[in-house]
Amino acid sequence: KFPGLSDPDLFRQAALIGGNWVQAASGAVIEVTDPATAAVIGTVPDISGDETRAAIKAADIAFQSWRGRPHSERAALLEKWFSLMEEHAEDLALILTMEQGKPLAEARGEIGYGASFVKWFAEEARRIDGSVIPAPAGDRQIVVLKEPVGVSAIITPWNFPNAMITRKVGPALAAGCTVVIKPSEFTPFSALALGVLAERAGIPAGVINIVTGMPAEIGAELTANPVVRKLSFTGSTRVGSILMAQCAPSLKRLSLELGGNAPFIVFDDADLEAAVEGAIASKFRNGGQTCVCSNRILVQAGVYDAFAAKLSARVARMRVGPGTEPGNEIGPMINAPAIDKIRRHVADALAKGAKLLAEAPVPAGGQYAAPVVLGEASTEMELASEETFGPVAPLFRFETEAEAIALANGTPYGLAAYFYTESHKRAWRVGQALEFGMVGLNTGSVSTTVSPFGGVKQSGLGREGARVGIEEYLETKAFHMAGL
Ligand code: ADP
Repeated sequence: KFPGLSDPDLFRQAALIGGNWVQAASGAVIEVTDPATAAVIGTVPDISGDETRAAIKAADIAFQSWRGRPHSERAALLEKWFSLMEEHAEDLALILTMEQGKPLAEARGEIGYGASFVKWFAEEARRIDGSVIPAPAGDRQIVVLKEPVGVSAIITPWNFPNAMITRKVGPALAAGCTVVIKPSEFTPFSALALGVLAERAGIPAGVINIVTGMPAEIGAELTANPVVRKLSFTGSTRVGSILMAQCAPSLKRLSLELGGNAPFIVFDDADLEAAVEGAIASKFRNGGQTCVCSNRILVQAGVYDAFAAKLSARVARMRVGPGTEPGNEIGPMINAPAIDKIRRHVADALAKGAKLLAEAPVPAGGQYAAPVVLGEASTEMELASEETFGPVAPLFRFETEAEAIALANGTPYGLAAYFYTESHKRAWRVGQALEFGMVGLNTGSVSTTVSPFGGVKQSGLGREGARVGIEEYLETKAFHMAGL
C-alpha cells in the first residue's frame, strides 16, 4: 500500500503502548487518506479512554527508571534516535508527504528540522544543572535541584507531523520525563515511524507511547488523569483553551503553541526584492498552513503598487500539485473543511472590496487551493481577524508607522510578526512595539532549533526549542539542608 519505502517496516498501522504495537480492543480503526488523491493509505486503531489509561500507566512505570538514568545515558539514546532519523530521512519524508501533502522538498526540510531537536536536547540533557544558594543561617545549605516534571501528554497537529513531536519529545526525554503522544488523526504515520526508530535506538519500552485515534476520548483521559503531570499541545486556540480548562482540576503544567495572525509589514524604505522573497517564504510555506505564516501583509503607501506587482508576478507563476511531483511548490490542503475556509475568506474579501491581483493555476479536481494575492484588504474582512491557513496573501495599505503598529497588534494573537525596513532606528522601535513572541526583521523565517519558539496573548504559553525549551519539562526543587 505504501510504494517507495526502502524500509517498509517504518509504516506501522498500530498504536504503541508499553513497548507493544497494539490494535484497539474494540477493533475500531480510522482511515488515513492521501490529501493529493483522497485515496486511503492505511488505518490506525481508534484507541479508547481505557487504553489511553493503560498507556499512561506504562509511561508511569517507565518513568520510575528513566528519571534515574544518568543524563549521559539518556543523551546517548537520543543521539542514536537522531542518527536513525537521519539515516531514514528519505522514507520519513515520503510518509510525511503521503499523509500530509506538502512537497517532498519541504518534507525533507521538516525531517531535518524535526531531527535537529532530538540532537539539540540530547546535548542539553548534559547541562541540566542546579545551584547552591548561600543560606541565611550558618548551619544550612540550600541546594536547588532540577527534576523531571513526570509523565507528559503530547498532543500534536497535522501541519508538522514530525517536527511538532520531536520539539516536545526531545526535551521531555532529555529532562527525564516519559510521554504519551496523541498525534493528529490526519497524520499518525509520521509519529508511528518515529516510534519504530525510537524502539530501534534502544529507548526503553514505555518511555514513548503513541495513542492514535479520534481526539475527544483520548484527550479527556490525558487531561483528567492525575498521573499526567504536564500537557504540551500544539494546535488551534479553540482546542488549546478546551484542554487548558480540562487540565484545571488537576492543575497540570502546560505548554500551549496555538494559533497566530502574523502581520508582515513592508515599510517604504524596505529592500523590496528581499521583502517579496520573505513574503513568499513566510506566506506560502506548507501551502500557508503554519501558525507562523503571514496572515496579513501590511504595505506602506509609497511602495504598495511596486510591492503588489512584484509579489503578484511571483505568485502567478507558483506551481501547485501533488507533493510527490518534483517542482511543485504548493501541495494539496489537508482536508475539505480547510478548502472551505479558504474559499470563504476569499469570497468574503472580494465581496467587501478586495481586488484579485494574481491567481496561480491549480490542477483540476483534488484538494487544491489556488495561491492568490488580494489587494485593498481591510480590517472588516474575515481574513483580517481569522487565520486563513491557506495560500492567500491579502495586502493592506497603510500610511504611517504608528498605523502599521496598531494594525499589526490589533489581534488577540501574538505568535510571529515580520517587518522590512533599512532604517536601524525604525528597526529597533518597531521591534520593541510589536506584541509577539517572535519577530523577524528583514526575514520571513523565525523557526530554528536554537531560538525560543512560542507566543504571547492567545497564541499560547511557554517556549519550545532553544535552551529554555527543556525548562518546560523540569521542576525546581529547593532542598534545604540544616544542622550541618
Ligand atoms: P489544527 O486543525 O489546527 O491542527 P486542532 O486544535 O483541531 O488544530 O488539532 C490539534 C490536535 O488536537 C490534533 O491532534 C487533534 O486531534 C487534537 N484535538 C482536537 N480536539 C481535541 C480534544 N477535544 N481533546 C484532545 N485533543 C484534541
